[in-house]
Amino acid sequence: MKMSNMLVSTLREVPAEAEIESHKLMLRAGLMRKMAAGIYNYMPLGLKVLRNIEQIVKEEMDNAGAQEFLASAMLPAELWQESGRWDAYGAEMFRLKDRNSRDFCLGPTHEEVFTDIARNEIKSYKQLPLTLYQIQTKYRDERRPRFGVMRSREFIMKDAYSFDKDQEGLDLSYDKMHEAYVKIFNRCGLDAKCVEADSGAIGGSNSAEFMVKSEVGEDDVVFCTACDYAANIEKAPSTPEKEQVTELKEIEKVETPNVRTIDELIKFFNTTAKKFVKTLIYNADGKIVAVMVRGDREVNETKVANALGGVIELEMASAEDVVKATGAAIGFAGPIGIKVDELLVDNEVSNMYNFIVGANETGYHLSNVNYGRDFDGKLGDYRNITEGEICPHCGAKITISRGTEVGHIFKLGTKYSESMNANFIDEKGESKPFIMGCYGIGVTRTMASIIEQHHDENGIVWPISVAPYHVSVIPVNIKDEAQMKVAEEIYNKLKSMHVEVIMDDRNERAGVKFKDSDLIGIPMRITVGKKIAEGQIEFKLRNSSDIEVINIDEVYNKVKNQLD
Ligand code: ATP
Ligand code: MG
Repeated sequence: MKMSNMLVSTLREVPAEAEIESHKLMLRAGLMRKMAAGIYNYMPLGLKVLRNIEQIVKEEMDNAGAQEFLASAMLPAELWQESGRWDAYGAEMFRLKDRNSRDFCLGPTHEEVFTDIARNEIKSYKQLPLTLYQIQTKYRDERRPRFGVMRSREFIMKDAYSFDKDQEGLDLSYDKMHEAYVKIFNRCGLDAKCVEADSGAIGGSNSAEFMVKSEVGEDDVVFCTACDYAANIEKAPSTPEKEQVTELKEIEKVETPNVRTIDELIKFFNTTAKKFVKTLIYNADGKIVAVMVRGDREVNETKVANALGGVIELEMASAEDVVKATGAAIGFAGPIGIKVDELLVDNEVSNMYNFIVGANETGYHLSNVNYGRDFDGKLGDYRNITEGEICPHCGAKITISRGTEVGHIFKLGTKYSESMNANFIDEKGESKPFIMGCYGIGVTRTMASIIEQHHDENGIVWPISVAPYHVSVIPVNIKDEAQMKVAEEIYNKLKSMHVEVIMDDRNERAGVKFKDSDLIGIPMRITVGKKIAEGQIEFKLRNSSDIEVINIDEVYNKVKNQLD
């Protein structure tokens, strides 16, 4: 394409709204524009990249034996009521009514739809296994849309759903998707690690996430320093520390006026956070739940939600509820005499002796408190693993890095097929629920993640596989007929070779064209300037600073080599 005919909307200034590199560059390179919070329009160049990623996804899905499908984005409430998720999805779901006041939503995900398709279309085990996928727009009213299309309210997802007659079948379908994901991210030039994950609100028994390391990622990922164990922190089991066994002392009530936080308590008692146990009070779908962890630990809300049998909304209790549960002002909660529906106690607390807790009385704490003697609760792993703790597989030390999830694969089992009555007839003539899996890739988030991993101070450095164009041909002076003639020739010949090529025939200074080409991230640049007098042009790769002066007719092989 000729740039004089293109909408090129590059920006020199860094837009104020953008905090991370990919977001800044997607705006600066003119790949997208914001419509509303978390809602974007894709400009022509951005759309080309998106289509390239989608093409890779499609090829690998097809190779894995999955079949493409397209569901509607607007979905009737009835389907979601059947699975129980109409209420469960909460505020993240965009809801609407039609003219007859019937409820609909804009699909945040499509398990229900695909389960419905399967129960209507698949009657017999002979039609199994089957994996269907789609590349489609999803809607989620995220609490904090941010970082451009990394976390947006409208985004493109590839979602696939597998249907099998038994668990072994599901294992195979899942492994195929896993393999396809590895290939997809490799082909996109994205370094994505597969990590163990929690099954979250969707539920099920087995799930893994594909994570890209990123300082701005919203997930913490645990990596073993010795083996290949990697897990989302939501999932990684912690190992309780053991204190040396000591004699239990008598409880003492200590006046602690205005001493509420762990930091204040450390100063007041002149000891370390390890001598305290904090009692945090949550509202779990309306139930009031207290969770106790050592003073220096962080509660893992996923583990807590799972322990409560899959809570949907877990949030800190209101001040009012805290006061009701403890009978004291905020900051003095403890296990003894607390009025809650459930008390969860982290395993580590049962290995501690003579610790300090709130007294459930304003201005007081209790010291020398001991689990088992002074209070009981449901023991379990309710805290985050921390840097330097041990790997659950090999016992070596672990490290923790920030990451962003680009893909997720789940073994759902019969969660949806049972609740929605989606059955087939097996070999023995019996009716059985489908064994399902579901598999998502954030296509738009993948695009942003590629930029996070492939950019420099001048702009994006696209991997060839997803670049909007492979080559930009830049005539230095468009008024120079000889230069234009050579540039046209190269442009046309490359086009006939099916190379994605643009020619920057805009009436701009060469410097401006170079800057745009770098910002947009075109992998190869061919500069046609004065050297054509000697039959030469310049060839430059975006990911290198070398400029090669080559004979004009050498250029085609150069380009071809890069594309191969
Ligand atoms: P997150 O924890 O980041 O909210 P999720 O667990 O809600 O992700 P899934 O429901 O598994 O995500 O969706 C599948 C994929 O869709 C994710 O791996 C991610 O790449 C993408 N995705 C999810 N939410 C968003 C969003 N708000 N904006 C862009 N992509 C998203
Ligand atoms: Mg989410």
